[in-house]
Formats: sequence, C-alpha cells, structure tokens
Amino acid sequence: MDTLQQKLRKLTRNLWWTWRPEVRAIFRDLDIDIYHKAHRNPVRVLKEITPALLEKRADEVDIATRTDRALRQLHDYLNPLTTWGMVHAGALQSRPVAYFCAEFGIHESIPIYSGGLGILAGDHLKGASNLGVPLVGVGLLYHRGYTTQMLDATYWQHDVSEPVELSDLPMEPALGPDGRQVRVGVELPGRTVWAKVLECHVGRIRLILLDSRDDANSDEDKALAANLYGGDTRMRIQQELLLGVGGLRALRALGITPSVVHLNEGHSAFAILEWARHRVQQDSLEPWAALAEAASATVFTTHTPVEAGHDKFPANLAEEHLVPLADGLRLPLHDVMGLGRTNPGDLGSPFLPTVLALKNCRRANGVSALHGVVARSMWHHLWPNRSVHEVPIGHVTNGVHVPSWLSSELNTLLQTHLGVNWMDGIVRPDLWTKIAAIDPAEIWEIKKVLKGRMLKLVRDRQNQMLARLGLPQLEPQPLDPEALTIGFARRFVPYKRPDLLFTDLDRLDALVNNPERPVNLIFAGRAHPADGPGKALIQKVGQLTADPRFRNRIIFVENYNIHIGRNLYQGVDAWLNNPRRPLEACGTSGMKVVMNGGLHISVLDGWWAEAFDGENGFAIGNGEIHVSNEVQDKRDAEALYRLLEEQVVPLYYRQDANGVPRQWVHAIQRSMRTLAWRFNADRMVMDYVRHCYLPAAVAASCQMPTP
Ligand SMILES: *Cc1c(COP(=O)(O)O)cnc(C)c1O
Repeated sequence: MDTLQQKLRKLTRNLWWTWRPEVRAIFRDLDIDIYHKAHRNPVRVLKEITPALLEKRADEVDIATRTDRALRQLHDYLNPLTTWGMVHAGALQSRPVAYFCAEFGIHESIPIYSGGLGILAGDHLKGASNLGVPLVGVGLLYHRGYTTQMLDATYWQHDVSEPVELSDLPMEPALGPDGRQVRVGVELPGRTVWAKVLECHVGRIRLILLDSRDDANSDEDKALAANLYGGDTRMRIQQELLLGVGGLRALRALGITPSVVHLNEGHSAFAILEWARHRVQQDSLEPWAALAEAASATVFTTHTPVEAGHDKFPANLAEEHLVPLADGLRLPLHDVMGLGRTNPGDLGSPFLPTVLALKNCRRANGVSALHGVVARSMWHHLWPNRSVHEVPIGHVTNGVHVPSWLSSELNTLLQTHLGVNWMDGIVRPDLWTKIAAIDPAEIWEIKKVLKGRMLKLVRDRQNQMLARLGLPQLEPQPLDPEALTIGFARRFVPYKRPDLLFTDLDRLDALVNNPERPVNLIFAGRAHPADGPGKALIQKVGQLTADPRFRNRIIFVENYNIHIGRNLYQGVDAWLNNPRRPLEACGTSGMKVVMNGGLHISVLDGWWAEAFDGENGFAIGNGEIHVSNEVQDKRDAEALYRLLEEQVVPLYYRQDANGVPRQWVHAIQRSMRTLAWRFNADRMVMDYVRHCYLPAAVAASCQMPTP
C-alpha cells in the first residue's frame, strides 16, 4: 500500500492535473500559503509540506479520500475502453505523430513557453490526449526558463530569469531499452553537443524534452538550451539543430518511429534533413528519394504572417552548421543550402528554415482561414509558376483546450444544462443550442463571482508592485466591480497596437470615468527581452495608467502568464483585440474569454474574421486595410471609440430591475452557441488528423518498409 505522500506524488506525475480543478484543489487545500508560494506547483507543494502538516490536513480536509478518487479517475482516463482516436486515427496507432515545437505552455509552473505558440502547443497535446490520438510532443527543456517580467518605477520592463530546479518539475529521465537515460549527440561546428532526454506525461501524451546540461558538454554547450529565444543567431541555429536533429534522434533512441512529423514554425525544420540523412545512412536510400520520403511524412504549420517572425540564417553561418547533415545525406553542401533558399541557385542568399519546411512537406497550413490567404500570398514567390490561390498552403484554425481555461463555476452550470459529459460532445453544434435555455440571471450571477475574484487578484498584484516600487497604493475601492470591465493582454509589439485606445486621452477619460456608466480596463503583456520598441509600448501604456485620470480605472498587471491569463479570461466582461489587420495569424485569448462568458471586441483579423456573425460579439471596423499605418491606426481608433461608446457600453448598462443586463447576456449565449463548438482544441486536433496527419501517414507508409 502506498502512503498518502506516495499517492499524492503519483498524482503530480501526470500533468492531467493541470486541467482538473478538483485535483489542483487537493494541493491547494493542503496549505494555501505554500500552494501560492510554490506557484501552484504540486511537486513543490509536496516538497515543502512537512509530514506533520500533511497528516493534520489529511484529516481536516479529507485529502485521503479525494486523492484515492483522483487516482482512480486518472487510471480510468489512462485506460479508456474506446476513444475518438481509436476509431478515427487507427493508421497512427503503431507509429504516432511527432509534434515538434520550440515551446510548450502546459502550466504556469513549467516555464518553457513564452506566449501564444507555446500555449497552443500545450493545448494541442491536451486535445490529442482527450481524443486518444497517438502523438508525442518533442521540445527543449530551457533550464533557465523564460523570463519573468518586472517593471521599474518608470514602467520599463526588466527580464529576470532564474534557474529551473528539475526536481521541482514532474519530469523523469526518458529511459532507453537498456534501462538507462537516453542521451543524444548533435554535431555542431568543431564538436558534438549532447543532450539528456527527459519526459513528462500530459494525460495520455508523452512529451519528450532535451536538456543540454550533459556532463560531456563544455560549459558553453551546457548553456545552449538555457533560455527560450535567448542569444544571437548562432545560438539560435544551434538550438534549432538540437531540437530538429536531436529531437528525432531521441525518438529513435526511445524506440518511437513516427509516421508523421508535425513541425510548428521553422524552428524544428532540420528534422526533415535528419529524417532523410538517417534513411541514407541506415537503409542506403538514394538522397533525393530519402528527402522525398521525409517530405511526404512532414506536416508544417506556419504561425506568423510577420516577416521578422521567420528566422533567416546568413549563408556562411548556415553552411558552417549544415556540413554534417550534407555529408550524411551524401549531397553537396550547396544542394542542401538550396533547400532553404528562396532561389536555390542564389548562392550567398540566406537560409530560411521556413522555406525548407514549406518546400519539403506533405501539407502546409496557416492557423486561420485569413492567415491561409495571407500565407499563400506571402510565400507565392516560392512557386512563381503558380497563381496565388494554387500555392500549396491551406489552413487549420486554432482552438483552445477548454478544460484548461474554463472556470469550474461555469463548467458546473454547463453540466447542469448541457449534461454532465458535455465536454465529450464539445464539437457538436446541436449540443450548444441548449445554452439559449439558461436563465440569463444564472449566468450573470456566475460572471459576477468570477469578475470579483479576478479584480481582487489584479488589485493585490498591483499593490504588491506599487509597494515594491515605493509608489502609493491604489485607492481602497479601485476597479468598481459593477463597472464594465474590459481586458487586453498579449505580447507587446507595435502591430498589436496596445496603445490604440490611448490615441485620444480626453475621449478615453470621458469613456472610463462616465459617472453613470464607468469602464474598467485591465492591461497585461510582456515584450520579448530584446525588443526595445515592445518595451517602449509597455512603458507608454504603463505610464498612462499612472495618470491621475486613469489611476483607479486602468491598470497594467505585471508578468502576464498562464495564471494571470486564466484569471483575466474568466473574469472580464469583454476582451479587446485590435491588431493591424492582417498581421494577427489567429489569436486564441479571445476564444478563452468567449468560453468563459465574455464578449470579444476585435478587428476582423485572425480567427475573428471567420467567427464574427454580426451578433456574437463586436467588430471594430469592417475589415478594411488602409494605405498606410498612420491612416489605418487613425481610422481604427475612431471605429474603436465609436463602437465602445455607441454599442458596447450601452448594451452592458441596459439592465433590468434586478441589475441583470439581459441583452448583454443574450449576446454571451449567442457567442457561446456559435463559437464554442468550433474554436476548441478537440476540433483543431480532429482537423489535423483528418486533413494532415492521415494523408501524410498514408503517403509515407506507401514509400517506407514496415519497421
Ligand atoms: C492564450 C494565451 C496567449 C495567446 O493569446 P493571443 O490571443 O494569441 O495573444 C498568450 N499568452 C497567454 C498567457 C495565453 O494564455
């Protein structure tokens, strides 16, 4: 019999708990102070709690029974009788999909993500787990994590990075057939760099992570994968080789033969070359046949229409790094370089991993319908003989893993009205029609609770920050909980225009400080540590929130991450998204807000361009693209003010005798009914299985001998 301590430890070892509020609650109830100090990380909670306290709390809050129940549920979850994947993804059962990404955002306590891309990858693994789709994640373990944002008194962002203690994370050494931890080597200029392979479990899915702190490495190489997106282009190409080449080697060493390699962004594109190199070396395939086979097994997703988001390695840097792969492929170096060049014959031109992937894959896709259009035009020059609509890039619109983001209060309400197992049918539109029958007062009741909780968190965080900076605390009652509360949180970069609402300060003042119809605004977001213009935007918005007119109405919350995000998504009344169209590939934060009964206010960009139906939220403008940024920003600011003044605010404040804004809640119901079944991770993963994974698996198996 396991002791309680051992049982709790077992629970921590599968990240299933990240989307099971009742399991997280077990660790919270052990000791709420330890829980928060441990950043809600169950592994650390168990480390820090004393046996005496554990024993005491076990009786007080019935930990033993709850732990047994959770372990039983986890066991059942891991041993399903049937899953969607068994029925629909049979071809992947013996040889899974390998999902490569430079970052994975699974929980705030595992700092190997920076933003949207990582969180999408985390949600993808969780969706695949739910559906029982055979898939394994491959990434890097950044042992100094991603940075924490700390603002100074001038609202300038400082980036703090701390070593990640491996024993604080629910990760184990990944063992090879000989029972020893797998290590992989990758040839880099002048040496081989080694990585230890770790694994963790995300429900039914394994996530394989490479850790460069191997004893055989120089100190410099140990630091190779210390930071996500840290360092210069040289470090970047070496990290990408570690991920793409090392990742595939790690799978092989673990006895995993993928049928499909799903590359997310160009960061892992070297996996294509490694697949082919291995086949040339191992099975004596002819190089171009091996490359064709690698391509037919590859699915590539591009996630950004912003030019700077695509790595461009200078020719000499790429050549220096591609020699071992070219040798292994038995191809001249310039042929291999040509694979990543816009014009293969253009010697001296840079090497783009995105180009390597786009030209050598079975399926390529953008992440929303509009992004598909934009990507086809952006990469048209790679297929000069085709018309733009024949460019072979499709789209699969992103979705979010609802159990990870949904408040438990709203989940309970939906269980009552949609059925206890409603999440199993989340992709069915007919299920969501039942939402219209819920009494608006019931929904409103819950929204008020969620909003109150979120506002308390925001106030506490703000006062902590002000105290640290030696600035005066907020007024006793800032952020009136009755006021319409709009959130804006995302990476701070110029194209997302976090300062759009500050275009006309008098108009903003009149909007937020209207005595009858006040508005709260909550901002959060980080800039990349090396992004000066992004940091300047944070400073601009931060300093404006300190303006006496806005001090207790507009708040900038420090260190946007999964924890802050989850609270904001659950608590806000509405979510603001005003990028310069068409630069937002998809956006997912708005989906998380919609699932939690908030309304989306957005430019018709990314997912909103295909989601908005005129009544399920708000559109800023009509999807115009103007001649210049200045004109576009000016027109969009005007459209945004008018929308807020004439539609959003009046709808919210049209409340009945009991203070319920019935029409606002009707819009929430319409929004959930029309959007929830589409923009979730189950639908996204199903689309990938049907349209990308199965075609690639079948194509690849036609060419490959069985293992
Ligand atoms: C969902 C999420 C994102 C991505 O949202 P966008 O709408 O693409 O900006 C970024 N950061 C966090 C913490 C998130 O939860």
